[in-house]
Order: sequence, then structure tokens, then C-alpha cells
Amino acid sequence: MTSRRDEQVGQLKFRDPAQARRLTEALAERFAALNRSELWIMHVCGSHEQAIARFGLRAVLPAGLRVVMGPGCPVCVTDMPEVDEAVVLARQGVHIATFGDMLRVPGTVCSLADAQAEGARVHVVYGAVEAVDLARCTAGEVVFFATGFETTAVATAAVLRGALPANFSVLSAHKYVPPAMEIVARVPGTRVAGFLAAGHAATITGWGIFEPFAARHGLPVVVAGFEPLDILAGLVRLIELIGAGEATVANMYPRCVTREGNRAAQAQLWEVFRTTGGQWRGIADIPDGNLRLREAYADVDARRRFTIDLASLSDTPMPALAKDCICGRIMTGLATPVECALFGRECLPETPIGACMVSSEGTCRIWHHYGGGPA
Ligand code: SF4
Ligand code: SF4
Repeated sequence: MTSRRDEQVGQLKFRDPAQARRLTEALAERFAALNRSELWIMHVCGSHEQAIARFGLRAVLPAGLRVVMGPGCPVCVTDMPEVDEAVVLARQGVHIATFGDMLRVPGTVCSLADAQAEGARVHVVYGAVEAVDLARCTAGEVVFFATGFETTAVATAAVLRGALPANFSVLSAHKYVPPAMEIVARVPGTRVAGFLAAGHAATITGWGIFEPFAARHGLPVVVAGFEPLDILAGLVRLIELIGAGEATVANMYPRCVTREGNRAAQAQLWEVFRTTGGQWRGIADIPDGNLRLREAYADVDARRRFTIDLASLSDTPMPALAKDCICGRIMTGLATPVECALFGRECLPETPIGACMVSSEGTCRIWHHYGGGPA
């Protein structure tokens, strides 16, 4: 058993200043050897961005090394019509249970928080288990508005495979990251030369999943953990691979990630969900990027259980300012938050205009909180 003290000692090792210095020196050396004035690296994880911003890692990167966040926040990529579906259900009197970050995400005409202010019953939960508990002690219908990537979808799948109260169903807006990386790698004008892949997601999917991607696009991928040293070590390895011209995958998070991943979790995920095409907010229609319930789970699929009339929302126009939001360019690595004219002015965490300013894993919100740039 690990004691609290052991955990703290372990954490100190991951944040050891001497090791951090050695890694930043290695990074500077490898980057100089590339002889490039600029190099763009993309990571696809809100937790990576939080660590990078919180520990000020961009300040110790060599000048010219740009580390940007791609579509790494599940809240940000939840599309407006998906929010609209939840809003319509809430307005119909259904109890909506969802993650706190989802409440203020703007839909086409309003957010769930706005619907709640109108009297709709919207509840914040930490996950599917809590949503089921809510259904058990609620007389009406409870719909879990399920967002999140494969890591979170596994947890939803586990709950759906168990015993459920009759008044419980799921509105799945879960997303699957690998197909989104395909799109980002092909964005016209992309400068991304390599990817830092999310360690959490890779614990489920395994690092082997990135091999065909790396080969197809000629881009290296390094799986990295979430401590500052993990990220620095991941960047050093990535630059080594770029320098060597190797479009391969390296696993720099072996304490948690294997090549095959968690097979039991994968089986659970694919028993309950199938992939389908659909829009990721501000990015594109991503083939196989959405996770929807399989036929065998139709009786707990809110889209089957209820008639969701999106046309009933069309009474109010979308706020004009939302048109200036460049979330899509940010999530595809073409721009950074400071390039958005609304950043820190009209668009603030209290008054978000785009989804990237809403969630604690959204790039704009993280940059606003920790100071952000340089890229
Ligand atoms: S689910 Fe976890 S690993 Fe995946 S992007 Fe979000 S924070 Fe990162
Ligand atoms: S600052 Fe606001 S409006 Fe601009 S891209 Fe970010 S979320 Fe969108």
C-alpha cells in the first residue's frame, strides 16, 4: 500500500528541479541540432495544457519551439446541436444530469445554465454513477448528458452494463480522439510536426493505436504523462524522433501505458458504443469521431426514448459575437487564444463566447487563468 508520504516523495521526484534543468538543457540542445527557426508540436489533452500553463513550461522552451493544444477538451468539442438536444429535453421537463463544465457551454440559442434559470431541472454530477443514483431517488425521467473522450466513455459503459432504474437514460456526446487527430494532421496549412499524445487515453487504448497514424502522416507521436518532467521528457523524445526523421511512436509513460492498453476496458467500451461520424464543434465533421450507443442499448438511449425537436429552439438568434470566436482555428493548431480579438475582452470565463473559455480544460480558459503564451 502506498502511504501519503510515499506519494509526496514520488511527486517530488517528478518535480525535481535538477532533473527539470537537465531536460530543458537536452531540449535546447536537440532543438538547436534541428537547425530550424520554428517547430510546432501539438498535444491533444486538457490536462497537458493545464500542466504546461500551470508550471510555466513554455517559459523554459527554446525560442521557436511552439507547443499548442489541439482538440483536447471534450467540453469544447461538444457540438452546439448536442447541447441543444440536452436543452430541449430539459425544457420538456426531463431532469438533465451532467458535468459542471457543460452548464455554461453555449448552444445554438442558450446553455443548460440558461435553461436552468428558466426553471429546467439541470443537475451537476461527477459521472454516470452519480446520475444513476439521482435517477434512483427521482420520480421523473433522468437523462445523463454524457460528454468526454474514451476515458470517460469507458466509465459510462461500465454503468450501462449494470442494473439501471427504469427512469434512466443517456444522451451520448462522447467523442473518440484518434479520428480527430487524423483530421488535425491533414488540416491545410498545418505546421504541426509531431504529436504529444494523452497518457490517460493511452492507458485505455494502448500506445500501439498511434502506430498506423504515425506511419500514414509521417509524423512522430510520443505518449506522455502529466507531471512537468513527463512533459519535458516527452518533448525531448519527440524532438529526437523529428531530428532522426522517424515517424514512429514512443511511449514515455510506461508506468501506466502499455502497447495493448487495457483490453477489458476496451471490450467494455466497444460492447456499449459504436463510432459514428459527426461534427466536432468548430473543427469539422469527423468520421468515426462520435461515440453513440449500440442497438443493444437502445432502451437506455435518450435519442430513442424521447422525441427531441430541435426546431423548437429556433426562436432566438445566435449572439452576433459568437461569429468572431476562433475556437476552431485554435483547436486545429492554426492559432492561439491571444490571436482572438475577443480573448480577455468580451470573452471571459464569466461571460464565455466560445466553448474554449468555458471548460477548465479549454485552451482559452487555461490561458486566461495562467497567463498563456508565448505559444
Ligand atoms: S480525457 Fe483525460 S487524457 Fe483525455 S484529453 Fe481529457 S484530460 Fe486528457
Ligand atoms: S477567446 Fe473566446 S471567443 Fe475567442 S476563441 Fe477563445 S472561446 Fe472563442
